[in-house]
Amino acid sequence: MIGKIFHELKKLLSLRSLQARIFIIVLAVGIVPSVVMRYGILVSYEERSVQNRISTVQNQLMIIGNHLLNNNYFNTKPEGYIGSMSREAINAELETISNLYEGRVMIINSSLKVVRDTYGISEGKTIISEEVIQCFHGQNISNYDKEHGYIEMTTPIIDTSTNSSVIVGVMLTSISNDAIEATLMALDRKASLLGNLMLVATIAMALILSFVLVRPFNRVTDAINEVKAGYSNERISVPDYAETVHIVNAFNQLLERMRALDTSRQEFVENVSHELKTPMAAIKVLADSLLSQQDAPTELYQEFLVDIASEIDRENRIITDLLALVKMEKKAQELNIVSLNVNDLVELILKRLRPLARKKDVELVFESMRQVSAEVDEVKMSLIMTNLVENAIKYNKDHGWVRVELDADYQYFVFKVSDSGLGIPAESLAHIYERFYRVDKSHSREIGGTGLGLAITKSAVLMHRGSISVTSVEGEGSCFTVKIPLSCVMAG
Ligand code: ADP
Repeated sequence: MIGKIFHELKKLLSLRSLQARIFIIVLAVGIVPSVVMRYGILVSYEERSVQNRISTVQNQLMIIGNHLLNNNYFNTKPEGYIGSMSREAINAELETISNLYEGRVMIINSSLKVVRDTYGISEGKTIISEEVIQCFHGQNISNYDKEHGYIEMTTPIIDTSTNSSVIVGVMLTSISNDAIEATLMALDRKASLLGNLMLVATIAMALILSFVLVRPFNRVTDAINEVKAGYSNERISVPDYAETVHIVNAFNQLLERMRALDTSRQEFVENVSHELKTPMAAIKVLADSLLSQQDAPTELYQEFLVDIASEIDRENRIITDLLALVKMEKKAQELNIVSLNVNDLVELILKRLRPLARKKDVELVFESMRQVSAEVDEVKMSLIMTNLVENAIKYNKDHGWVRVELDADYQYFVFKVSDSGLGIPAESLAHIYERFYRVDKSHSREIGGTGLGLAITKSAVLMHRGSISVTSVEGEGSCFTVKIPLSCVMAG
């Protein structure tokens, strides 16, 4: 159990594992938006609060500004004008507002002199500040100094009693933002508490999801391991995801192919043993019968030894063919391609086989439609041609004929061997390329067949990316057609 947990943790730490990636993605999807939201909300809350505060204070200052004007605070009214509020009452209003917002209000007249300071320290002094001068030029300014914790603003006092509005004074106000800061901190505390809770929940969720989502893939591995270890021979099935179904289907197909390959290999080994045993058994019978006869005549010895020698020849042929076949399959990718005059090769092969044809009085004709040169493997090509022509002679009637044709188009050359022989029964046509398949076992054996010739031929044809086909009528004859690309390198 501990080992398993350790293994899972190790997997989580490896970035190549799907589990680790799911964990990271879920974590990122859960955490990033919450962090962004948290800071976004705090920042926009702060901005809004500062703006609200500025506009509330500005409104109140405007009202006070009107009071200042109406009560002749700047001595702008004609002499003898009496306002409704006394100077003290207005000062009290200024005090109230500066207390309320924990700040300071300074009233500055058009000669930049401070006529009123709620802190009482700058009264009578001249103030040369850019903000104030800009405000006299009609530009309201408000600054939020987060670092020092205050908001500074200027409010113009506009006299509209004359035809043109005149700025007669400026209020320079700075208020504390402690209240906003305090609310922000309280909000931040709550947000970070919520954020921590969400972090824990997201980690838990990421862990659970990363384990749960990857589990079907682990099941696939387990099922494959069971098959590998030999506990199960069944097709495996993990239907959780479409992806696992695809993997498992591909694996099952591979398994089936391997089993088929295994069965065919087993069959091949059985066939090989059987084929090799038959001449051995014959030799054994011949030798035993000689041994059992005391004083057997020399003629009998000679006759039996001839039979033994022919069985040994047969055994030899089987082994040679087998080796050729195995070599062909082993070196399936290796073709020794040369540029070849195919007509010359056919002539050479026919010359070699003519004695065999003569023995059966079989007429051997070659019809060449054109000169063909191709890029092929010479040894394998001559193996193909020899096997086909040899079969056409071997499985022919006495005084029959064999016709070999060679033609080509711009892409392929066609090598055709027709004969007037025994023909192949329709039901055997599908099997003649199988290893050790013979239509008539005893007849084939009689004439020295191993049942491997066509298997070798087909394998060599396929290596050249060509095709082989056969038509045959039993009792009338057969026709084998081989089509090979003029350049099997290009065809590949
Ligand atoms: P073998 O070594 O026995 O000739 P092959 O693989 O060359 O083996 O041929 C398989 C079988 O196909 C032969 O045993 C024979 O029965 C049949 N066959 C092949 N070629 C011909 C042919 N031209 N005419 C009739 N039967 C043929």
